[in-house]
Formats: sequence, C-alpha cells, structure tokens
Amino acid sequence: MRMPIVAGNWKMYKTLGEAAAFAQELAPALSALKGAERVICPPFVDIPDVKRVLDGTPIKLGAQNIHWETQGAFTSSISAPMLQGLVEYVIIGHSEVRQYLHETDDMINKKAKAALAYGLSPIIAVGESLDQNQRGETEAFVGQQIRAAFEAIPASDLPRIVVAYEPIWAIGTGLSATGEQANTIIKRAIRGVLATLYGEEKAELVRIQYGGSVKPDNMAEFMGQPEIDGALVGGASLKVDDFVTLTRIAIEAKGSG
Ligand code: PEP
Repeated sequence: MRMPIVAGNWKMYKTLGEAAAFAQELAPALSALKGAERVICPPFVDIPDVKRVLDGTPIKLGAQNIHWETQGAFTSSISAPMLQGLVEYVIIGHSEVRQYLHETDDMINKKAKAALAYGLSPIIAVGESLDQNQRGETEAFVGQQIRAAFEAIPASDLPRIVVAYEPIWAIGTGLSATGEQANTIIKRAIRGVLATLYGEEKAELVRIQYGGSVKPDNMAEFMGQPEIDGALVGGASLKVDDFVTLTRIAIEAKGSG
C-alpha cells in the first residue's frame, strides 16, 4: 500500500512570527495522528523557524520551489543543496509558478532532477486550465506534462517522487473536480503514462495527490478514490483544524492508521 501524503502549501502567507506560532499550534494535533505522511511547505524565510518548532515531531517540511542549478548568478533563487538539512520535499511546477514566473516543462524536469540529486523528494504539480478542460484536452495535456517532467529520470527514483494533479481552474477558486473525474485523469494521464514509461509495477510506486480547493467537506470524496494517495492543500492548510481534519480523513479513508 502507498502511504498517504497530505502536504500544506502555505504559498506567500505568514511572516516569521506568524509561521512559528502557527506551527506551534499545529504540531500537537497533527503529530498525534498516525498513518499518513504530513508535510508543510512554508515560504523559504520561515523554514528555519518552523523547523525548530517541528524538530522531534513526525511532521516534515517542504519548500515551494528551487532553482535547477546548484549555485550561480541567479538572483532571488534558492538551490537544492541550500535546502539540504532543512526540508525533505520541494513542490515543483506549481501552476502559480508556471503562470506568473513562466516556468516551462523543461525547467520543471531540470528542477526535479536537481531535487533528486540532492536527496529532496519532488512534489511535481501538473494540471490543465479551464479552457483545456472545456475543450476536452485534459488527458493529452496532463499526459504531456508528465512525459516532460519525467524525461530521463530513472525508474529507481520513482518511489521518492510525488505527483500532484491540480486542475488550475480548481486552485483557490472554491471549484473542484469530482473525485471520480480526478481519479480518471490520474489513472489515464498520470499513472497510465508512467506505466508506459516505466512499466505498471514501477508506476504503482508513485504517490499521486489531488489538489484544488480541498476542504474538510470534500476530502473524503477524493480520498475514497483508489488512484488518489493524498492531497496538496493550499487555503485549508492555513487553518489548524482544517489541516488536521484533512489528514485524519485521509488516514480513515485509506485505512492506514
Ligand atoms: C495549492 O496551492 O496547491 C492549492 C491546491 O490551493 P487550494 O487548496 O487553495 O485550492
């Protein structure tokens, strides 16, 4: 069985003081749960403070992006080796980064390889726009994003990689796919494409999250789907009770506790 993974993407929220205080509030209830990997991804500057709060707990840390180079003249960027010892995960290819920072499939592939080379686990985000969805292009588009992201990544790295299927039209909008729709896209365009690239057995090792307006009242619908192994959560990860509830629902639905 794949271990469920629930990750909170704090985006550009929380100052230093706020981040540490929030982590302090979150840690006891989230630590008490068993049966899911729990990851929070604060802004870069908050990571050391949040890490001090979470050290000794089972809650893991992730970053929200990296550069693909290890060092160099890349003003404003952070590299994978700079995050070693601070985080275990890094989100790569989030649609907000693709959209606002013009991140391409090629950059995402290089970032995934950089993360893996320095012992970090990438959470590779993919997903279609509303237009693509309405034109019936979702499967082809997401499948292509997966092929590009995994280009020249060896099968031996698959157990360390998480994919997040996040329809762009569902992120932060209050709209969400149905569990069944998400499961179908994941089965055909993500796990199915990985099976073509690496074989079915290897593709089964990759954990795949759903993301897009996940809330306590729709989490069970997603976690009840066989292809969905957890969630990448934005807005609801900024509320202690909601994030703990989401994690508890994932554990109950998967029977992993
Ligand atoms: C996200 O940031 O990846 C996300 C899915 O956001 P939200 O849960 O707010 O839609």
